[in-house]
Amino acid sequence: HTLVYHHPTIAEISMAAFSENICKLKEHAPRASMLAVIKTNAYGHGVVPMGEAAVASGAERLGVTTVEEGVMLREHGLLVPIHILSSIVPEQAEVAITYDLTISVSSVTLAKRLSDEAIHQAKIAIVHLKVDTGLHRFGVEPKQITSFCKTTYHLPNLEWEGIYTHFSRADDGDWEQTEKEFALFQQTVIQLQQSGYHFPLQHAGGSSITLERKDMHLDMVRPGVALFGYTPDIRQEKKLSLKPVMTLKSRLLQVREIPPGTPVGYSGSYVSSSVEKIAVVPIGHGDGYKRALSNKGEMLVRGKRAKIIGTISLDQTLINVTDISDVKEGDEVVLLGEQGKERIGAREIAKWAGSNIDEILASLTERIPRKYI
Ligand code: PLP
Repeated sequence: HTLVYHHPTIAEISMAAFSENICKLKEHAPRASMLAVIKTNAYGHGVVPMGEAAVASGAERLGVTTVEEGVMLREHGLLVPIHILSSIVPEQAEVAITYDLTISVSSVTLAKRLSDEAIHQAKIAIVHLKVDTGLHRFGVEPKQITSFCKTTYHLPNLEWEGIYTHFSRADDGDWEQTEKEFALFQQTVIQLQQSGYHFPLQHAGGSSITLERKDMHLDMVRPGVALFGYTPDIRQEKKLSLKPVMTLKSRLLQVREIPPGTPVGYSGSYVSSSVEKIAVVPIGHGDGYKRALSNKGEMLVRGKRAKIIGTISLDQTLINVTDISDVKEGDEVVLLGEQGKERIGAREIAKWAGSNIDEILASLTERIPRKYI
């Protein structure tokens, strides 16, 4: 609805780029199925439209981290398996089973509650066992996993469809550590098989593994950020020529000249050194545009780079357009994406902000209308 009122700051989402990225990643992992990770509002792109597009482009499964996002996808008619990649609290068992969400399990308490709830609903709860191989976030430690399975594997109305891990350093290109974690995962699976605990679907990696390590694809790959055109490591960027899906743009609300020595913005964190031309862009940290970009970031105007000056406020950001000729009120500004021959990517913004690509994309709030093109 917001678009109707012509809010000048919008995120354009290219469905063609997204679909192409999925096809390229699928082609690159021909023997594995694909779980498209669209958590955190699809890294800021919109969980429902991206979920629908992922399935239309061939993703067999979807992954989110909150039950709420899983429910939202089901309510929009998506029927593929939807994984909750985080753990959940026992109180969420009821809704997770009602909506047929595939649940990650690494807690005995949760396994028991899911079993009870599934019996109550006369359903089978589909669960994947999470193994901790080195990230030390969720997961059962390999040393304790046989005893974990003794307590949980035969609980009624649970179907242990899969087993998985998530690596700690695959995104840094630390293959020595990743190979250790992968070997530990495989040993764990074999050890469980020998004790009679079978898990048909085995999966281990996100974007980095999908791109770099076919030997670790196993039955399924779980790319997230790569679907949106970015690779975790800059060295992977050329690999499949993935296309950034989001362009963030706005328009100049005001352009004017200031004399030398003029403090700009709150606290005067920037002071003009000569006669300068400054412009106001209607985006701020209230939109998830990082305050850390103050006096550091850049935007594109008329195909040229303009520096952010002063401290970014909740709703506005100031840029220096002194060196850009013919600039005027109403001009288009590109904050993320291409304009003319210039391009600003999320990796570059992340560097300015001391952040990472996931955070830059996923932080953009609901106030910015998403326009699907
Ligand atoms: N799998 C799991 C379990 C995750 O938590 C994530 C995201 O952190 C992914 C896959 C996707 O990671 P990436 O965005 O690096 O592809």
